[in-house]
Amino acid sequence: MIPKEGMSEDEIFAELEKRLRSDLTFNSGKILGSMCTYPHPLAQKVIQRYIDRNLGDPGLHKGSKEIEEEAVQMIGELLHLKRAWGNIVSGGTEANILAVRAFRNLSGVEEPELILPRSAHFSFLKAKDLLKVKLVWAELNDDYSVNVKDVEAKITDNTIGIVGIAGTTGLGVVDDIPSLSDIAVDYGIPLHVDAAFGGFVIPFAKALGYDLPDFDFKLKGVQSVTIDPHKMGMAPIPAGGIIFREKKYMDAINVLAPYLAGGEIFQATITGTRPGANAIAVWALLKHLGFEGYKEVVGEAMENAKWFAEQIKALNGVYLIREPMLNIVSFGSKELKKIEKDLKKRGWGISAHRGYIRIVMMPHVKREHLKSFLNDLVEILKK
Ligand code: PLP
Repeated sequence: MIPKEGMSEDEIFAELEKRLRSDLTFNSGKILGSMCTYPHPLAQKVIQRYIDRNLGDPGLHKGSKEIEEEAVQMIGELLHLKRAWGNIVSGGTEANILAVRAFRNLSGVEEPELILPRSAHFSFLKAKDLLKVKLVWAELNDDYSVNVKDVEAKITDNTIGIVGIAGTTGLGVVDDIPSLSDIAVDYGIPLHVDAAFGGFVIPFAKALGYDLPDFDFKLKGVQSVTIDPHKMGMAPIPAGGIIFREKKYMDAINVLAPYLAGGEIFQATITGTRPGANAIAVWALLKHLGFEGYKEVVGEAMENAKWFAEQIKALNGVYLIREPMLNIVSFGSKELKKIEKDLKKRGWGISAHRGYIRIVMMPHVKREHLKSFLNDLVEILKK
């Protein structure tokens, strides 16, 4: 109930400290199974200063809108696109929904179908529900990448788009996007790449010499990319990214917003009122860290992944699901549920799905945290 007399600030914080004690925090190093991280300190300052900016009404906040456009452009250039169209949105879910919406609206197909890998994120289930697009699942190969032949076999006259994943949620697998792109070009179907996680990893890992497939607008079939600054981009939640190759995709989802201060403007995003501060924080981080800054962050994460995978291989009672492609390492065990329960009891923020526990080497995950986790795992396995 709302109290009749308001509480003081001190009372509020005392209560919140008590109530939120059960939350795990990123800087404790205990959260190993999340794709989020503690936001970069610069981003926190930016958010505090520009907290009131609303990108839903860009007539009021023209500067913020320009900054968002520049952030989209910088991300587009990172993805080998000269002129980018899109928005900083609430996350990968919204970005994926926008891509499917654009493909569907442009297709003119009455009973639209989208082909996507079995490994796709559940956000596509929301897209299906909202947009009445049938999901056609493509099977995976033994290495958990999508089977490109199966994708091709599932194309029909109703196919409005194909999805490839650059960094699957469970295993960090990068699909064979070049082959998917070839198919997309051959059949004249747009390809959406869900790089919500991998978008802020792959360009830097490639620059460090890691052998990873191309996944972005370098490939002709790729028409849209989801890339989330609030994952490996180190931006505060909410900050997702949707980037389109051409304006026509934005035109297909733009809605007229007539009553705003900017006069007749168009909105493509699902959300109306939306945080300008987060988009400004994305811009600030891209400028502040630069390519080299992100490369350093990704370098450490990739090293941790390699090291951790070797440690798992050396243990009895657990096994590696597959060699990591990105900074995600997943392991299985006959006793997975018990191990999950015991690890959680010891305060680790992990979870078991689809037969494995996933460790995401986010920037807050340091070698000492991984060592401490492995010590606990060894103790649990001995019991
Ligand atoms: N796509 C992929 C590959 C993801 O891993 C995730 C989240 O983990 C999403 C989309 C959804 O992102 P969000 O939770 O920011 O909406």
